[in-house]
Amino acid sequence: MTPVSAYIGLGANLGDPAATLQAALDDLAAQPGITACTASPLYRTVPIDTDGPLFINAVARIHTTLSPLTLLDVLQAIENAHHRERPYRYAPRTLDLDLLLMDGVEMHTERLTVPHPRAHQRAFVLRPLQDLAPDLVLAQGSLTALLAACADQAIQRLDTV
Ligand code: ATP
Ligand code: MG
Ligand code: MG
Repeated sequence: MTPVSAYIGLGANLGDPAATLQAALDDLAAQPGITACTASPLYRTVPIDTDGPLFINAVARIHTTLSPLTLLDVLQAIENAHHRERPYRYAPRTLDLDLLLMDGVEMHTERLTVPHPRAHQRAFVLRPLQDLAPDLVLAQGSLTALLAACADQAIQRLDTV
């Protein structure tokens, strides 16, 4: 089976978010069925739709032979390994891994919607995505145009990583 590209959004605002994101990137790269993993820089961002500490966010591009649902299983297993809890929607979290986009995949099921339905509204997704794929165009528009329309502009690139 030929690997396809997929983009994963990473976020955390509990524990040591930068260390957790780095560990999650290593976990992704080590996964059977994931053949490549390229990470954007990390960004510090203000929580959207929630409160709590500042977030660290990034996006990774992977190449994978996994099906979308098997990939979601892998993402959730990595979240759980990093002690993700879901006491309520948008609660602060040790690790969030969302499947943003996958080549050739458009699906809407109870467990999985791809492309991710809110990615195009979120600077904390679009900005790191732009680092990896500046010319990418989403169904809703170019990354540049979508970023200009985002309410959450308060993002700061971390230069230490
Ligand atoms: P948001 O999706 O708005 O970023 P969240 O990431 O905080 O919110 P979670 O608690 O991580 O939400 O996930 C809730 C459910 O969303 C998961 O159990 C999963 O089945 C479902 N889901 C649907 N589409 C996706 C996707 N593209 N990536 C990850 N999870 C998804
Ligand atoms: Mg999320
Ligand atoms: Mg999630």
